[in-house]
Amino acid sequence: MSQKTWYQMTAEEALDAQQVDPRSGLPWEEARSRQERSGRNELSEGKKVSPVTLFLGQFKDFMVLVLMGATLISGLLGEYLDAITIVAIIFMNGILGFIQEFRAERSLRALKELSAPSAKVLREGELHQIVARELVPGDVVLLESGDRIPADLRFIEANGVYVEESALTGESVPVAKHVGALPEGDVPLGDQRNLGFMGTMVTQGTARGVIVRTGMETEMGKIADLIQNTDAMQTPLQHRLEQLGKILIGIAIGLTIMVVVAGIMHGQPPYAMFLAGVSLAVAAIPEGLPAIVTIALALGVQRMIKRRAIVRKLPSVETLGCASVICSDKTGTLTQNKMTVTHLWSSGQVLEVTGDGYSPYGTIHKGGVQLDVRKDPMLSRLMQVSVLCNNAKLREEEAESRKKKGKEAAEKVWSISGDPTEGALVVLGAKAGFTTEALQDTYKRTHEFPFDSDRKRMSVIVSHAAGRMVCTKGAPDVLLQHCAYVMWEGKVIPFTATLKAKVMAANEGMAKAALRVLGFAYRDLRAADRSDGYEDVEQQLVFVGLAGMIDPPRREVREAISKCRKAGIKTVMITGDHQTTAEAIAKELGMLPSGGIVVNGQQLALMDDGELESRVDDIYVYARVSPEHKLRIVKALQRQGHVVAMTGDGVNDAPAIKAADIGIAMGISGTDVSKEASALILSDDNFATIVAAIEEGRGIYENIRKFIRYLLASNVGEILTMFFAMMAGLPLPLLPIQILWVNLVTDGLPAMALGVDQAEKDLMTQKPRPAKENIFARRLGWKIVSRGVLIGLCTLAAFWIALVNDPQNPDNLAHAQSVAFATLVMAQLIHVFDCRSSRSIFHRNPLQNLYLVLAVLSSLALMLAVMYVPQLQPIFKTVPLGWKDWIMVLIAAGIPTFFMGFGSVMSRPRKPELKFGTGAKAKPSMR
Ligand code: ATP
Repeated sequence: MSQKTWYQMTAEEALDAQQVDPRSGLPWEEARSRQERSGRNELSEGKKVSPVTLFLGQFKDFMVLVLMGATLISGLLGEYLDAITIVAIIFMNGILGFIQEFRAERSLRALKELSAPSAKVLREGELHQIVARELVPGDVVLLESGDRIPADLRFIEANGVYVEESALTGESVPVAKHVGALPEGDVPLGDQRNLGFMGTMVTQGTARGVIVRTGMETEMGKIADLIQNTDAMQTPLQHRLEQLGKILIGIAIGLTIMVVVAGIMHGQPPYAMFLAGVSLAVAAIPEGLPAIVTIALALGVQRMIKRRAIVRKLPSVETLGCASVICSDKTGTLTQNKMTVTHLWSSGQVLEVTGDGYSPYGTIHKGGVQLDVRKDPMLSRLMQVSVLCNNAKLREEEAESRKKKGKEAAEKVWSISGDPTEGALVVLGAKAGFTTEALQDTYKRTHEFPFDSDRKRMSVIVSHAAGRMVCTKGAPDVLLQHCAYVMWEGKVIPFTATLKAKVMAANEGMAKAALRVLGFAYRDLRAADRSDGYEDVEQQLVFVGLAGMIDPPRREVREAISKCRKAGIKTVMITGDHQTTAEAIAKELGMLPSGGIVVNGQQLALMDDGELESRVDDIYVYARVSPEHKLRIVKALQRQGHVVAMTGDGVNDAPAIKAADIGIAMGISGTDVSKEASALILSDDNFATIVAAIEEGRGIYENIRKFIRYLLASNVGEILTMFFAMMAGLPLPLLPIQILWVNLVTDGLPAMALGVDQAEKDLMTQKPRPAKENIFARRLGWKIVSRGVLIGLCTLAAFWIALVNDPQNPDNLAHAQSVAFATLVMAQLIHVFDCRSSRSIFHRNPLQNLYLVLAVLSSLALMLAVMYVPQLQPIFKTVPLGWKDWIMVLIAAGIPTFFMGFGSVMSRPRKPELKFGTGAKAKPSMR
């Protein structure tokens, strides 16, 4: 680097210093070697939890420590075998807990990786989208509104660029950037207007910059420690469960104390009761619950990734299941965003355009007669404007599939880079012989006023041999307000109200056919004309014509919308496109019920919040809206009690995305700003993916309920078995080691397998769960307690029968305890299948969840091992059971399931009863 600092250099000096050609960027090889020197472009991570710490963390639980203390005492008293076994069981439990937490941690990390930011960089003359951490000093990057600046860079081109630098300077008002050099001397960070800093956000305009510092060298790197915000990522449910866990610990300890006291009062030896009590407490405390919840969430999130939904904020997984309205953009989400111009309109004439997709082969016809565009000055001008006022590029490349197979005659496919709307116009130009390259040689672009969803138009100024010209394209209704003249039958004439009405009628006609319509205009600039801002240039324009393009709906969306309807979820389209186009597409997709209302931005602006709120349930399509309208819509829906999922892609969508209960950003077309504000990213930009994510969200929540039901009912059963026995003055039905073994065998694997259970068939035919629903709602609390009591009673009954059956036998107690042990384990392993259904075990195929079958089989094996392996019998004080015993065990263990299954106490699924419909009609009818 020279003596000058980056902001003191001119753009050329900065490029020289970085030894890079701004037109082609760095070669890949050079970038690789630079990365070896400079390292990755990332801020060093905060401290990670080491696996050892995670493992040791498993033993710091208070009750586990007490148990260890008690075991130590029993070891010192000579009960070596007992002590060693208990330690071994605690250790195995610890390993299980460690595996659960380690997996959870790893999945969360993988999630973070997935949402890693990317950047558009020039390498070897081509534009690539790469992960931002791969950038090196000297890379030439392209920026547009909504991008986060990936490293510190020196601007080499800036078109109306504003950058929000509050993360660095605290100044929240975006500052304008330029390419000029700054004078010698120290300039504060906020005034270094020709530099862009890592982590700051482009809010407007387009730019190019050469990277000068990466990773920890950047300004952001200098304050990395301050900004490393370790996201706790705990969901409300996890939080509530943590609270619940504390209550459950209290209850478990309270009951245990009662068991111990009752036992001692009925003549049990205090020491034995103490150890049994502590073991019971350890078994009864659902210590695995938080980890299993995290695993269920994390694995669910992995499944969502497979279905192309990336969850950025874990809490949204829960909220997804409650979503009652999805507000979706149209272009790209409901439609394919593969635009093809099919019609042109100019001077009162409708023309057809032939050709498929992005292939530049096709012709322009009028009433079946092919036209030579070059001979038509009006059409020529339309083509010029559409190609010059455009940033998309058309390219021909080998089809991926062929390339991989290495076939020689690889098939060529045409594709575009950039905005598909603009791509369609480049293709249109090429069909008429107006290629970007040829035009750019004659017309040099000097200014650009970029498109944004608020302005709904874009302009460029080009200079050519005879002077300067402004070219503008945009939404016809908006563009018309800036036009004073029109090209009509080859002449430029004043744009009268009659002619404007003709244009609007043509626009309406195309829109009715679901076409997306753009208008084109131009103006020759005089030397005296100012060109500082778009207000100066976008006026007195000459209107040239319209282009209508198809954007076919995505195939899977219709079905997804019908799924939503069955699931009680309302779908709403919010689009910047024209009302008629939006309505036509909404009808095609089955989104607009009879009586459903379509409103446009203007009508919306006239409604006050109260009116919007009262009508919001009946509105299904919002057209020609600006991003700020979205926020009002979200708020109105929320005030009506809805849980709102809202999509967005632009910078200005961020507030609405943030305000929505589930903010959704587009993985492909979305800006960094919208992605960062979102809770969910659709990696395929597809509406159907939202529905898939909601389905997963519902499934995950139900799975969490399933294993909570299982774990807690099991624990209640364990405690009550002991409690009832002590109250009845019976001996201990289970020894401490047996209690711990029951806990190990039943709590771990089967509960985890429930966490990945398949969803019930009717999951998407129930109405959304209320956001504030208690986890024990829909009779879950009742199911847990009643099942726990039944398990306790049945186990005790089996114990008692075995006890009184053969009083002379010296092994009588050990035998009865083995019966109780087997009954308790079996009752839980049967119950686990019950938990899969909100109704009863008979409603689902028990073999469907293979993990669960394997988990139950291994639990069975572990139980049988301590009963039948002769070496283990003295340790666990068990005796092998005979077939008669087993019949009793199976009857006792099966009774709760039969009792509750036939009693049909299970809750009924909630049928969707849609609140929304048409205000006028009491009964909503959705098509
Ligand atoms: P959605 O909000 O559903 O994604 P959209 O993409 O149609 O819909 P915008 O991108 O805000 O919404 O576009 C609004 C209007 O602006 C379009 O109907 C079109 O007429 C016009 N328009 C779109 N893209 C461009 C562009 N690149 N240049 C000029 N005008 C455009």
